[in-house]
Amino acid sequence: MRRYSAFAIAREAARHHLGWERAWASPTPKASYDVVIVGAGGHGLATAYYLGRNHGIRNVAVIEKGWLGGGNTGRNTTIIRSNYLQDPSAAIYEKARSLYETLSQDLNYNVMFSPRGVMMLAQTEHEIRGYQRTAHANALQGVATEFIGPSKVRELCPIINIRGPRYPVLGALWQPRGGTARHDAVAWGYARACSDMGMDIIQQTEVTGVRREGGRVVGVDTTRGHIGCGKLGIVVAGHSGVMAERAGFRLPIESVALQALVSEPIKPVMDVVVMANTVHGYMSQSDKGEMVIGGGADGYNNYTQRGSFHHVEETVRALVETFPIISRLKMLRWWGGIVDMTGDRSPIISKTPVEGVFVNCGWGTGGFKAIPGSGWAMAELMAKGHSPLAAEFSLDRFREGKFIDESVAAGVAH
Ligand SMILES: Cc1cc2nc3c(=O)[nH]c(=O)nc-3n(C[C@H](O)[C@H](O)[C@H](O)COP(=O)(O)OP(=O)(O)OC[C@H]3O[C@@H](n4cnc5c(N)ncnc54)[C@H](O)[C@@H]3O)c2cc1C
Repeated sequence: MRRYSAFAIAREAARHHLGWERAWASPTPKASYDVVIVGAGGHGLATAYYLGRNHGIRNVAVIEKGWLGGGNTGRNTTIIRSNYLQDPSAAIYEKARSLYETLSQDLNYNVMFSPRGVMMLAQTEHEIRGYQRTAHANALQGVATEFIGPSKVRELCPIINIRGPRYPVLGALWQPRGGTARHDAVAWGYARACSDMGMDIIQQTEVTGVRREGGRVVGVDTTRGHIGCGKLGIVVAGHSGVMAERAGFRLPIESVALQALVSEPIKPVMDVVVMANTVHGYMSQSDKGEMVIGGGADGYNNYTQRGSFHHVEETVRALVETFPIISRLKMLRWWGGIVDMTGDRSPIISKTPVEGVFVNCGWGTGGFKAIPGSGWAMAELMAKGHSPLAAEFSLDRFREGKFIDESVAAGVAH
């Protein structure tokens, strides 16, 4: 595949842009592959990419029931940070964040990574103590964060109402190299690179069953027929429980809808990401000028992919008190995605009771930021049977009680 470059843009401009190749192929499925990945979200595509790039495994199909990136990957609010409390989490999220730094160059695709800085506001004494603890943990983990006071918060984001009506801003956990990236570009960039390595990305094809022989996977049934495989990766976020059942095991996971909304575009007013977890709202400004606003998760399990008025009201109320200047903005649209939540709010990257079947799920409300690190670890696990980054995230932790409690870092914030 031809590389994207300034020269290519000039060349195509001179010939009316008629020479661009398709970014990825739409092949007919083969009878079998060494590896089948179910789910062409960011995590599934990144797994395929690192299988090829790091381990030379290229006879791979990624099977997607809708369109690639049409799940949570194309529905999230794009926040990237690695300021988690527990060591295994900080390791995988920081690996992902550092891969994001050069992802556009690695994929030869502009994912618009913008390390503009992420601040998580402390609005109660309890939050001050919690975030100071996280800042100390991050220092030991080699993750660059600091706890900053209210005057620094105001300097970094002048539109914040420091004396909020319910809760004043008392400080913030600040990660200067956190930020955002364009979500669908991440999926498209990985898809293009996978296709370039000869992998098949098969859209509009649902995996409806998993065939096993003697406790080992031998293939999948799909809406386009049977496809054989030596190894199977299940990477379907909110549908993980459904797919696990099709493979013959159960996962300790629940699915709920999580919502977000965007405003009409306005001139630049903030160049950092701000999360206000006590009042529960967070906001950043997209390159188009829209204010990107994160809402809440439904309080009951469901598989809907839409927003609801009570969440909009709650979220907007929280944000208007934190950023009074947005009170007259019109909201353009809102939506939901189905997120997969574990009890300890940490992901699962693991072998399963079925030999040859691997699962990557449980990223819940915060897996966009993890895509490169998760794909890296899952590919290593599938290729070698072990990955240091994934070791603590195995299914065994639920049996052994070795939980990785990130409910503070991930339960509300993203
Ligand atoms: C509103 C919202 C805001 C969020 N904000 C953030 C944020 O700011 N920062 C952050 O880090 N994270 C955020 N997240 C979480 C993040 O989006 C997810 O953790 C991440 O995108 C999960 O990626 P994935 O590849 O695992 O899943 P997905 O992108 O959902 O991909 C899974 C794919 O599997 C496919 N699939 C399912 N079943 C089958 C089947 N049987 N056969 C074939 N294909 C199948 C689906 O169609 C889907 O495309 C947010 C999520 C939502 C919903």
